Amino acid sequence: MNPLEEHLKRLKLSHIPKIYRQEAESAAQGNLSHLAFLEKLLEAEVAWKTEQATRRRIRQARFPTVKTIDTFDFAWPRSLNKQLVLKLMDLEFIPQKQNILILGPPGTGKTHIAQSILYKACCGGFPTLFTTAIDVVNDLHAAMADNTFPQKLRSYTRPAVVLIDELGYLPVDKKGADILFQVISKRYERGSIILTSNSAFKDWGKIFSGDNTLASAIIDRLVHHCEVLTIEGDSYRLKGRKKKKLVSG
Ligand code: ADP
Ligand code: MG
Repeated sequence: MNPLEEHLKRLKLSHIPKIYRQEAESAAQGNLSHLAFLEKLLEAEVAWKTEQATRRRIRQARFPTVKTIDTFDFAWPRSLNKQLVLKLMDLEFIPQKQNILILGPPGTGKTHIAQSILYKACCGGFPTLFTTAIDVVNDLHAAMADNTFPQKLRSYTRPAVVLIDELGYLPVDKKGADILFQVISKRYERGSIILTSNSAFKDWGKIFSGDNTLASAIIDRLVHHCEVLTIEGDSYRLKGRKKKKLVSG
């Protein structure tokens, strides 16, 4: 390792060592000034570091699959406020600590849209986490047993945006309802939640083992600073099936 490479290593500039020789050659050929050459090298390092950081955030978000809004067919759902979806993609809701609630029947693209917003947030520099309501409950329930609850709870409160998918998909017991309440109230006005559910608000009592008071307290905190996106229509999975039927029949 030559002295230049040693300096770069010490400064943790890990991309420049890969490119400086070739860049120096083309700078000499193209009569690039010293300052322009230096700027070019540093610009490449910054771009590389930015990309690495985005990749790290995407990894830490723990997406089950990556979905982006480019692959979302806005013509499919019978009813969806496209303007609102596009507005949410500008990420203004994050510094404002607003929540996003996505409601609608199964297969209508709730998770797809929620994931797309979360992915955009990763690219925009925000730490995020993808999880499901059941995973939050199970994870924190287990943490209570082995005394890691406070630190586990922090993993749900620290990210700028947490996507809690599939609330109401399975009912939660009293303990589970308390756990979800804790996460939601800890994040209240401190960080954004994107939550998807196929249950309308009026049915949330049933999700929380019949505890209407707790359901109201949760809804209250969620919707205080919130955009609600309601999707109506048939399952997109059904669309595929209909197509296949036409092809085979
Ligand atoms: P939900 O969360 O509402 O149950 P998903 O978002 O999981 O629905 O959607 C089910 C599947 O259909 C996913 O693979 C998703 O990418 C796809 N999908 C749903 N709606 C659309 C759409 N309008 N355009 C493209 N793909 C869609
Ligand atoms: Mg879903």
